Order: sequence, then structure tokens, then C-alpha cells
Amino acid sequence: MNPPIGIDLGTTNSLICVWQEGKPTLIPNAIGEVVTPSVVSIDEDDSILVGRAALSRLTTHPDKSAAAFKRFLGSNKIYELAGKKFTPTELSALVLKSLKADAEAFLQQEIRDVVISVPAYFNDEQRKQTRFAAELAGLNAVRLINEPTAAAMAYGLHEEQSGNTLVFDLGGGTFDVTVLEYALPIIEVHASAGDNYLGGEDFTHEIVQACLSEWKLKQQDIAVDDYARLLDLAEQVKCKLNGEQMQYLTWFWQDKEWQFELNESRAKVIWLPLLNRLRAPVEQALSDARLKPAQLEHIVLVGGSSQLGVVRELVTKLFGKLPYRHINPTTIVAQGAAVQAACRLRNQDVEEVILTDVCPYTLGIESCSGKVSGLFSPIIERNTIVPTSKVKTFYSTQPQQKAICISVYQGENPRVENNVLIDEFEIPLTPMEKTQGVDVRFSYDLNGLLEVDVVLLETGEQYGKVIDQSPIGLTDKQKQESHERLKALKIHPRDEMPNRTLLARLERAWAQSLGDERLLIGSYIEDFLTVLNQQNLDEINQMRSEIESQLNDLGR
Ligand code: ADP
Ligand code: MG
Repeated sequence: MNPPIGIDLGTTNSLICVWQEGKPTLIPNAIGEVVTPSVVSIDEDDSILVGRAALSRLTTHPDKSAAAFKRFLGSNKIYELAGKKFTPTELSALVLKSLKADAEAFLQQEIRDVVISVPAYFNDEQRKQTRFAAELAGLNAVRLINEPTAAAMAYGLHEEQSGNTLVFDLGGGTFDVTVLEYALPIIEVHASAGDNYLGGEDFTHEIVQACLSEWKLKQQDIAVDDYARLLDLAEQVKCKLNGEQMQYLTWFWQDKEWQFELNESRAKVIWLPLLNRLRAPVEQALSDARLKPAQLEHIVLVGGSSQLGVVRELVTKLFGKLPYRHINPTTIVAQGAAVQAACRLRNQDVEEVILTDVCPYTLGIESCSGKVSGLFSPIIERNTIVPTSKVKTFYSTQPQQKAICISVYQGENPRVENNVLIDEFEIPLTPMEKTQGVDVRFSYDLNGLLEVDVVLLETGEQYGKVIDQSPIGLTDKQKQESHERLKALKIHPRDEMPNRTLLARLERAWAQSLGDERLLIGSYIEDFLTVLNQQNLDEINQMRSEIESQLNDLGR
């Protein structure tokens, strides 16, 4: 029996959840936490670390660690960690592999089929890369579900819902707004909008910029690892913000102590441009759904950054009502993905929820009119309900034309140069005295994957499934190389993760402190290494929890 499993593969944090005994159960990782930071690091012995230990090493070993790579999924960015090269897809695969191992340890069985959530705003290419990452990790993504839709499923399961609902998801790197309607068992998505480049990271980044401008320092004068320490401190201060109470950031650099003070009022000024950027996708989603803020019955907050006081305040002001907050915004997407997995397998415990989703962006092809070329002709309009299939007729521009080029774009601009090119291919024509017509059909499925079919009207010739489902720019050879590169990697042993994670945390705390505190942390490192060498499991475990609680008290 395949257990129904859902995965939230987040920019910042990833979670895996199984549907068991009639409810979604979050699966703990090797250190007993249900949230695994989406960070990969190469350890001193060349093995791969994923999760909290890797996150600590982002501060102490930024050149051997990578985070937020989901942002670059589908781009040609290459990460180089300790001399090894990785694509964002391969790094995502390492996170998925680690989640898979956690689930297999928890369930005591091998897993393969999973539902993975992706931002609603992910384009075709990013979705394909997500599926390929699953394949690299030995998983089969039987379904991709849009994150806000997953959140809506978990929310709908919790509460008997009805009415128009807005899901506001502000994570680490992306912002998604979805307007949907519950008329259970049907959840109908009316509109989706978002910003792929707006998230908690940007809020942290703005704090760092404010520090540098107050201290009159330039980023290019600061070494990478010193900058990583500052970023880390800014992140901590951000998460501690609480009303008017001042929070202090202290950074040691070049034998000097640099101080910065922050409370919510000050943060609001620093973040004004970011807070303003949150409005546009909200307005777009509401206008596409033809709703006014007052017609919304519920607001569901999703994502770690929706915990920011200033964000909650903005949401309350925008909608004139308090957001719902009974489900943890950090885990709700994974829970919803597991609900979806259970629905797919028609698990008896879960009443089937019928889901309708929308295609979040306009898809079309390049066309020309008279002497003007480079025009964008939409075939499937933004926020059309999926699955959908639409056809449009185009004509060759001159007699005797030997081929017609189909360039597929997505975007909201009338000129193709301002949209995203998805694929491009040529269809041969039999030259004729007159211009010829072609029917171009776009079919967009529930996973957000696009197929294009072309029919030549004069001859009836058909060119089906022209867009292949593999990521663009990745040949079979390159895919095979990815498989081999990943296979060759040594993964850090799972049972050593609690100790490895504490050591990484100690190193980070040591790097962040000076004076007496540093001496104290240094002594913890010595003590812990000593007891590790003696290999007595009970003593190791006891000392680990003692040091962990000391570090918690120090706020490190
Ligand atoms: P993603 O979906 O991108 O993986 P998450 O939903 O896990 O992200 O959110 C991660 C973001 O939430 C990070 O940018 C982090 O700084 C932010 N975050 C987490 N906890 C808090 C908090 N208590 N206050 C403010 N921001 C937080
Ligand atoms: Mg998320």
C-alpha cells in the first residue's frame, strides 16, 4: 500500500506529511523537527548535509553552502560548493532525498509517489524542473499542486467552510495571492496572482541595507562570510520584532562592535517599498476574480513571513477584517498536499474534495500583423479554469512560405520580448500559391504543464505534443549527467545528524560572539567533542540536550 504523501518544497523550509488515520501527520526529520531548512552544505569530509546543520553552516561556511535555490529553478545558474557544481534542480533533489529518507524511517517502508506543492506563479519550466528534481531523488511527483490551493485544502478540512476566501502566502522568497470559493465538496479557485521575487529574504535584506547605510559601510568592502554573519543577525532580529519594543543587532567586524536598533515602527519605514509591493498582486487577484475586499469571508495567512506584525497589520487594513490564524502558517501547505494525496488515492477517511484550479498566467504565441512583428497573441488567458484546451487559427504571412515558426510565450505584455519564452519550434509547410492557415491548440493540465498541438488546415497534417515534457535546455545526456553526479555524492549518515547539527550550531554561535560568551561557547565545543570521542551514547545524548538548552538561554 502506498501511503498518501505530500511535500512542501519551500524556498526556505521544506516539510513532508503523510495522511494517516484520517488526518495529515507531519513527519519529523533526523533531529526530530518537522521543518527542514531547504539548505545544502558540503561537510568537512565531503559529505552532503541538508537542513538545520546546513543552515548553521551558511553562516560559518557560506562558500560550501547554498540556500534559496528554488528561486533559480529553471534558470542556468550554477552553484559551486567546495569545488562541486550543482544546478538549482540538483540541490532541490538533495532536499527531497533527505525528506524521503525521513519519511522512510518514520513509516518503515519505501516511498515513491508523492504530491509536491509549487508556487501558483511557477511557470512551465519551473514545474518541469520540480518534477525532474523529484525524479533525481527517486520520487515520482504524481501531482503538482499550487501552494495556496494546498493551503485551502488543509483549511477547508479544518473548518466547515463556505464563501469567498483569500489565501495570502508570504514565504521566504515568493508571494502568492489566491482567491477561491468553498462550496464543499468543491473548492473553486477564481484567481491567482503573485510575485516570484518577493519574500521574507527581501525584508531581511532591507534590514542589512539599513545597517550599512547607518554605519556608512559598503557591501563590496565586506568579506562574504562577515556579510553572511550580518545577514544571519538581521534575520534573527526580524523574527524577534514585537511592537514598539527595541531589538538590538550587534555585529563584530574589524575589531569593532556595530550596533543597530529596530522596532516595528522603524521597520515599517525601512520596509515601506516592500509593503507597497504586496498590494499589487492582492488587487490583481481580486479584480480578476471580480470581487471587492468586502465580499471576502475569510483571509488565510500562509508562510513564515505572514507572522510579521507589519504584514498582519497591512492585511487587516486591506480587508477590514482579522486574518484566520488557527492553522500554523508554516505547515499548512504540506498538510494540504497530503490531503490532496489522500484524495488522489481516494482514501476512505477523506471526503473527496473536488478542486478546480486556474492557469495563473496568459499563454500564447508570437504573431505578426502587417509589418509589425513580435506581437503576443494569447491563446489561454490568465486565470482560465484548468484543465483547459483552447484553439486559435493563425495564417502564414506570405505565399510559398516553407515553414511556420511557433514561439510559445507566457506573460502579460502585448510584445513578446517582454514575456517569457517557453519553447520554440518550426512546422514545415508545403509551399502553396496562397497563405495557409494553422490551428494552434494549447492544452493546460491540472499539474500546470502545457501541450501544444498544431493542425495545418490545407493538408490536415497534425503535429501533436510538440512541446516535450522535459525541462528546456536539458538534453537526455545532461539529465543523465545529473543522475550520475547525484549518485556519486556521499550523504551524511542520518543517525549522526543530531550531533552534527549541534556542532554546526556551536560553530555558528562561536563565530557570532566575542569575549566571555565566546569563551563559554568554546568550552562547550571542547566538552562535546570530548564526550563524542568517548562514544558513550547516553552521555552524548545527555550532554547534547544540556548544551542545547544553554544555547537556547543565550539566544544563540
Ligand atoms: P518558504 O515557503 O519560502 O519556504 P516559509 O513559509 O517557511 O518559507 O517562510 C520562511 C520565511 O519566514 C523566512 O524568510 C523567515 O525569515 C520568515 N519567518 C519565519 N518565522 C518568522 C517570524 N516569527 N517572524 C517573521 N518572519 C518569520
Ligand atoms: Mg511556502
